Amino acid sequence: MSVKIFECKRCGFCCQGESTVSLTPPEQESIAMFLGLNLSEFFERYTVKKGSRVEMKTINGHCIFFDEKEKICRIHPVKPSHCRRWPLHPSILKDRESFEIIKRTCPGFSPSATWEEVVDFIRYMGDTC
Ligand code: SF4
Ligand code: SF4
Repeated sequence: MSVKIFECKRCGFCCQGESTVSLTPPEQESIAMFLGLNLSEFFERYTVKKGSRVEMKTINGHCIFFDEKEKICRIHPVKPSHCRRWPLHPSILKDRESFEIIKRTCPGFSPSATWEEVVDFIRYMGDTC
């Protein structure tokens, strides 16, 4: 592969917004453990409940774990799987339009990267639906 299809530019755009991804129970436990908190403390300080979903809180228009100054994730070693996979999301495999939408918001994709190349890349990385 001569041109890199994707390389994160650490712009932090994917951590912005007024909502975040939902956390599975194992993710809740590992983040709480990483922060040295019990689950109740973790829920109280860092999460919000939306119906049956538990999401990370937002602050100043971004995920509470996004470090504005350093532009890094403060829970990187235990960040949720949705964050870990972003932007090489399985939805891209099914839908060219998903890829175009994601590519427009993520400067990490090479401008010349095509949907077909990214699908091959995701499959090569072993990330299937
Ligand atoms: S939007 Fe893309 S380039 Fe920017 S931090 Fe997120 S994954 Fe990296
Ligand atoms: S957990 Fe980390 S990577 Fe995921 S949205 Fe929050 S700051 Fe960004």
